[in-house]
Amino acid sequence: MGMWHKYQIGNYKQCRKCHKVFSIADHPYLDMRSNPCPGCKAEDEDNPPMIKWPSLGQCSFDKIYESLATDNEEHQKILIVFLCSNMEFIYDSFLRRLTFLFTKSADCTELLFKNIEGIRRRIRLFKEITGISLEDAIRECGGGGFYNDWSNLRKARNGFAHGSEDWIVSGGKLMHLGHDKKLATIFEDLPSKINSIRSEFLNVFMKVNNFVIENCLTQ
Ligand SMILES: [Zn+2]
Repeated sequence: MGMWHKYQIGNYKQCRKCHKVFSIADHPYLDMRSNPCPGCKAEDEDNPPMIKWPSLGQCSFDKIYESLATDNEEHQKILIVFLCSNMEFIYDSFLRRLTFLFTKSADCTELLFKNIEGIRRRIRLFKEITGISLEDAIRECGGGGFYNDWSNLRKARNGFAHGSEDWIVSGGKLMHLGHDKKLATIFEDLPSKINSIRSEFLNVFMKVNNFVIENCLTQ
């Protein structure tokens, strides 16, 4: 059990009027009621403004994370791959919703998503629709450390997926063998890094959502 539980799926709601996202950790009454929106104060008994965000199933992967949270190095590699997929799935849902808000067209959103595959292209799409790069938006929201960690995690995942021997998990550390054959430590304590990335990512996406809605979306 850890503090990341309250920052997992099922603990956020988005307002259908102002489109901002709020966490139940910050606004506990949202757990019981969907009125009013903590941002724009919209309320409606018949048609509550707050809806589930991200709009995915309430599926929790706690059991998978817990069963792989061991000292076994292969388990730690699987956790890296799993966490990356988990985040990308949620990033996709987040980006799809933003694309719809910015383009105001379901057809356009579908077309944009049809033609892009892979997380790098989807990160580029963020800038195309909002005008700010995902990296800059995350940094603006105080998530610079998270952005760097996520990038490193993706590089390691790609390394494992392609059978590269340059990425090494050993003694609880994530290390990378550079072109100069020097071994660099990327994460000193991989298990706690996985937990912190896991606890942070929805909160970072929430802040980025609210930031671009406030600063980049013209009504
Ligand atoms: Zn609102």
